[in-house]
Amino acid sequence: MNRDQFIRGLKSIVGDEHVLTSAMDLVLYGYDASLIRGKADAAVLPDSTDEVSKIMALAHREKIPVIARGSGTNLSGGTVPVQGGLVIHFGRMNRVLEIDIPNRTVTVEPGVVTLDLQTRLLSQGFVYAPDPASQKVSTLGGNFGENSGGPHCLKYGVTTNHVLGAEVVLYDGTVIWTGGKSQDNPGYDLTGVLVGSEGTLGVATKMVLRIIRAPEAVKTMLAIYDTIEDAGNTVSAIIAEGIVPATLEMMDRVIMRAVEESVHAGYPLDAAAVLIIELDGMADGMERQAQKITEICKRHHVRKITTAKDNAERAQLWAGRKGAFGSVTRLRPSYMVGDGTVPRTKLPEVLKKVLETGEKYGVLIGNVFHAGDGNLHPLILFDERDEEEKKRVREASSEILKICADAGGTISGEHGIGIEKLEEMAFVFSESDMEVMRSVKKAFDPEGVLNPGKVLPPPG
Ligand SMILES: Cc1cc2nc3c(=O)[nH]c(=O)nc-3n(C[C@H](O)[C@H](O)[C@H](O)COP(=O)(O)OP(=O)(O)OC[C@H]3O[C@@H](n4cnc5c(N)ncnc54)[C@H](O)[C@@H]3O)c2cc1C
Repeated sequence: MNRDQFIRGLKSIVGDEHVLTSAMDLVLYGYDASLIRGKADAAVLPDSTDEVSKIMALAHREKIPVIARGSGTNLSGGTVPVQGGLVIHFGRMNRVLEIDIPNRTVTVEPGVVTLDLQTRLLSQGFVYAPDPASQKVSTLGGNFGENSGGPHCLKYGVTTNHVLGAEVVLYDGTVIWTGGKSQDNPGYDLTGVLVGSEGTLGVATKMVLRIIRAPEAVKTMLAIYDTIEDAGNTVSAIIAEGIVPATLEMMDRVIMRAVEESVHAGYPLDAAAVLIIELDGMADGMERQAQKITEICKRHHVRKITTAKDNAERAQLWAGRKGAFGSVTRLRPSYMVGDGTVPRTKLPEVLKKVLETGEKYGVLIGNVFHAGDGNLHPLILFDERDEEEKKRVREASSEILKICADAGGTISGEHGIGIEKLEEMAFVFSESDMEVMRSVKKAFDPEGVLNPGKVLPPPG
């Protein structure tokens, strides 16, 4: 079958207007939020599991790579068609199929935007906890593919802790269900294997997600520090005291400068770092916990600690944190974001090394991250058009991941491996570890057509 026949086959499944092949479309589907670029052969927008199944069966017969795509906001090249192929974009499969309050679950299609689900649930007094900073645009299918985290994942866990089951289309069009509404499922935990597999093992067409009651009360504090070490030490001290706040986010001076220029969140420009500490839960006892946290902050030389007085002030503090990635383009036109994770007691030491690495490679680095999880996001700021600078950025980024791995951490907390971190897999996995992962890939995708070139480096 030649390309024209393949395109006709796709059109017969989804209708002419849902198959995109113009030069402009193919360029648009060739990139995501990483620095990597590729080119798709076609993009298709299905409307049902049945259509996805027929598309996958057709692509399988023709040995055409298939790349699942939500909003393309992943930061590791996960949706870039590096070997060409067909992009399946889930923009039309964006229905919330069921909100089952008694069983505390929702069933959704992959194209639902994360914040849309959260807003709908909140109006009924419930929450879907994982809250990536990109939630305004990211989709639940993309969150599933990346096992996404977010500020509130410190207390509530990341995506995998909230996916109870999924309907998945396999490489040849076979449709399976893993897990479901019941809490304990016998057999292998295929849902666990699929969440975070970056579209390399199967394509989710429905997901059953856990929901929880919205907290009765919330308290959001901003702690201001004159040194990064004091802010870092406060993070481990809070957890060591047995307090698990809903969030423990850190931002350094470079990031605060960029944020203040764009969002005006009220961060102090002369401080070295701030922590956004949020408590949630029962109103009873919350003040006592806040007092305890204030004492810990003081013990670690906090300059000032303030509490948001109302929802508007709270929203302003969060607008700054959630807009941080976007605002750094005020300082330099491009950024590369790291995603290493370290044991939280190592934060001060590793942050120091990160800044030294920036100096060594002559690149500006700002830090904004989920400090409570020890999940660093050094943003290396540069100009993508300068090839020499870009090379230094890649080297600095790789060296930072090595620092994290050597500190007992790992190379990705939530942004995935994609294509960007293939080489760094060797920092944390042995060849034998990776061989086992390759055999899992082979079991799910014997012909290697699902998002090829991602997650696993070639043997050796
Ligand atoms: C400004 C900014 C802030 C961010 N903040 C965070 C953050 O706080 N936490 C965080 O974890 N991430 C964050 N990210 C990264 C990104 O937003 C997340 O990885 C998000 O989950 C991607 O969603 P998406 O819909 O854009 O997915 P895409 O980028 O389209 O896809 C992501 C991966 O999932 C696969 N995939 C997509 N749909 C499916 C499906 N139906 N079945 C199986 N696989 C599928 C894709 O093939 C790809 O490998 C941020 C990104 C940006 C740009």
